[in-house]
Amino acid sequence: MHRCNKCHLEFQKKRTLEQHIQYIHKSDFPSVKKILILGGGFGGVNILRDIQKMFQDKVNVDISIVNQENFFLFTPMLPEVASGMIHPRDISIPIRTFCKRAKFYQAVVSSIDLEQKLVTITRLFDGKVHALEYDYLVLALGSVTNFFGNKNIENHSFTIKTVEDAIGIRNHAINMLENAGQTSDPDLQQKLMTFTVVGGGFAGVETIGELNHLIRESASRMYPNINREKINMVLVSSKNGILPEVSESLSKKAMKYLKNHGVKVLTNTKAIDADEDYVLLDNNKKIPCTTLIWTGGVTVDPVISELKCEHEKSGKVQVDKFLRLIGYPNVFALGDCAEIIDTATGKPYPPTAQHAIHQSQTVSHNLNVLLTGKDKMNQFSYHSKGMMATIGKRNAIVSIFGYNLQGIIPWLIWRTYYVLQMPSIGKKIKVILDWTVDSFFKRDLTSYGQIKKKNLTKVDVKDKVPSLKELLFPDL
Ligand SMILES: Cc1cc2nc3c(=O)[nH]c(=O)nc-3n(C[C@H](O)[C@H](O)[C@H](O)COP(=O)(O)OP(=O)(O)OC[C@H]3O[C@@H](n4cnc5c(N)ncnc54)[C@H](O)[C@@H]3O)c2cc1C
Repeated sequence: MHRCNKCHLEFQKKRTLEQHIQYIHKSDFPSVKKILILGGGFGGVNILRDIQKMFQDKVNVDISIVNQENFFLFTPMLPEVASGMIHPRDISIPIRTFCKRAKFYQAVVSSIDLEQKLVTITRLFDGKVHALEYDYLVLALGSVTNFFGNKNIENHSFTIKTVEDAIGIRNHAINMLENAGQTSDPDLQQKLMTFTVVGGGFAGVETIGELNHLIRESASRMYPNINREKINMVLVSSKNGILPEVSESLSKKAMKYLKNHGVKVLTNTKAIDADEDYVLLDNNKKIPCTTLIWTGGVTVDPVISELKCEHEKSGKVQVDKFLRLIGYPNVFALGDCAEIIDTATGKPYPPTAQHAIHQSQTVSHNLNVLLTGKDKMNQFSYHSKGMMATIGKRNAIVSIFGYNLQGIIPWLIWRTYYVLQMPSIGKKIKVILDWTVDSFFKRDLTSYGQIKKKNLTKVDVKDKVPSLKELLFPDL
């Protein structure tokens, strides 16, 4: 609905409101300001929700959001999807359910022209390139996996960034159980039952924790031919410990839990090469295995690293204290694609969902200030009140109000926090019901084969820049 700010009448169509203002109030329709949000993850979706509320009565504010999937993904729970503990639908929410008045484009952002204030997007269903104009732009495109140029590792590893990745890992793990259950060759069985996860951050720790339980529990329950001694779960961390995002004592608790549950944690170690049946470490040791999951580094999408603005060395864009791109006061950046410095410590804030959510509040407020001229812009400053991570079946670590806890209670806190993030009461009830029902049954071990990744070629639009205007979307 479009509301007239003068007499508060509501109109179905924007055009009718324009005519009403023109003929009844004898004034011109105020010029429309376009806000364009790129990325429908933690940063993007939270800004969308905030600014729709802020500008709900403002017909002269046009909001659009672009994301390559048509859903928001709660990434911290991907490892639980990979272990079959929860359904993919429980951690994905269609972006359109957040769009009260915004337009949604399911497309790949293929280029951003900061001078012309134009963004080109590639539509998924026909590969057509279109351009979107903006007055205010929000960059919230997250991160992509970094293989540091190692093609062998890239070709022989799984990643855990998308729902497809998680389903792929689950199917592969179950296939490895089936294969190991059908061989009496002890070396082959050990190779099939060795799972190597590289990366000691959230993604790596949560993935090894979940996988460890999936494999050990399933082998005991369903695969009598698998020798338990042959199950080998390895976590490789290049740092001195794991989970650098949490306090040292909490990180030690997580490490102890993993070790007590049969995970080998190799610290100060790097994986430097891989093939389909081994991983090579920088100490020249080879781990014979048929599963490598790579969470060893992230970088930014080329659409971000190639932007003509200031970047830090990994390609993230640099922003000022108001989260505006340096040199571009109408462009904001947040989350994993931006380097945001904590002025108190001089160090960058960690790339976590929690930080992206808090940054989104600052960006929403500052957008409101820019558009209305009311109030002052806020500087971003945030001190984490707690951190959570799952480390195994119904087990998590949580640091909250100075307390470091581990076990089922933190895990319940974690799930409650997640349910509170759900956009609608309907989705909240569905997810709670799903989880409750699932907790009474054993894990489903059906493998649906491998899901092939679609490799969408990004359209190189560099040559077409002068004619971008021609590609503008008609008002959809
Ligand atoms: C397995 C895993 C576990 C994690 N666990 C935790 C945890 O326990 N706690 C925690 O705080 N953090 C955790 N994180 C980190 C957290 O998910 C990120 O820090 C957070 O998602 C960053 O938010 P964002 O908005 O910057 O990016 P994202 O949430 O990643 O959103 C970016 C969006 O942009 C879209 N996109 C990217 N490129 C394009 C393009 N070219 N065109 C169109 N769309 C595009 C993506 O599809 C995505 O929807 C985890 C991450 C992973 C992968």
